Amino acid sequence: MTRLREWLANGPLITDGAWGTELQARGLPPGTVPDTWNLAHSEKVEEVARAYAEAGSQIILTNTFRANAIAMHGLPAAELDAINRAGVEISHRAAPQARVFASIGPTGKMLVSREVSREAVASAFAAQAQSLAAAGADALLIETMSDIDEARLAVEAVRATGLPVVVSFAFDSGKNKDRTMMGATPEAVASAMSEAGADGVGANCGVGVELAVGICRRLHAACELPIWIKPNAGLPTMQGSTVHYATSAEFFASHYGALCEAGASFLGGCCGSTPEFIRALVQSRSTAS
Ligand SMILES: [Zn+2]
Repeated sequence: MTRLREWLANGPLITDGAWGTELQARGLPPGTVPDTWNLAHSEKVEEVARAYAEAGSQIILTNTFRANAIAMHGLPAAELDAINRAGVEISHRAAPQARVFASIGPTGKMLVSREVSREAVASAFAAQAQSLAAAGADALLIETMSDIDEARLAVEAVRATGLPVVVSFAFDSGKNKDRTMMGATPEAVASAMSEAGADGVGANCGVGVELAVGICRRLHAACELPIWIKPNAGLPTMQGSTVHYATSAEFFASHYGALCEAGASFLGGCCGSTPEFIRALVQSRSTAS
C-alpha cells in the first residue's frame, strides 16, 4: 500500500483553502509574488496556515506555488531554496497535527512552443522538490497544471525525493469546461499521470464546485489513483477594484457528499475559498457520517 493510501485508511481527508486571497486580505500588495512573504512576512503566512489548521484542515499546503527557477527567474538559487524551505517550516509550525503537502505550480512557460527546454523544466522542478523535501515536507503536490507533458516532466523530476506525489490539473476550458487550457481531458490526465508514477491525481481551481463533481467522477473512473479535488469558489468577477467569488461556504460544502460519491479522497477549496469553507466541509463530513 502506498503511504497516501495509508493516510486515507479512515476515509477522505480535508485539505485547505486558498492562500493567495488570504494573503491579500492580510496586506499582500497586488503584483507581489506571495512566495516572497515566506521570508519577508513569515508571520502573515503562518497566520493563514494556522487559520486553516484551526478550521480543521488535515492536510495543509505551502506558500511555494511559484518558487521554481523558471517562474521566479532571476532569483539566486540560494534564495529560492530559502523560500521553499521556509514555506515547509511555516506550515509545519502552524499546523503540527496536519500533513504538509508542498505546493509546486507550473513554470508559466510553454514547452510546446519551445519557450523553455525540457531540461530546464526538469531541473527547475527537481531543485524545488529537493528543497521542499529537505525541509521535511510529507508529500508533494504538483498543482494547477494544464499541460500533460509539463506535468509528466515534473512527476519524473520530483520522484527522486521518495515522497508521495499528487498531480492536480485545472479544468476550465472547452465548451463544457472539462478540459485544461491545453485541451487535456480528465481521462487523458488520469492515464498519463498513472503511467508517470504519480500517487494521486486530481483537479483544482477550474470553474467551481458543481462542475468539479463530474470531473472527479471521470478522473476516478479512468484510473486507480486516489483523487484530489480543490475547486474554486466559483468564477471570479470584478466588483470595482476587488475580486469577488460568488460561491458561499455553505453551498460549496453542500457538495461534500456528491464529491465523495464521485470518488474524491482529498477535499478542499482553491481560489476564493477561506477557512470558513473548510469549517463547512468538516461540518458536512460530520453530518454525513
Ligand atoms: Zn485556484
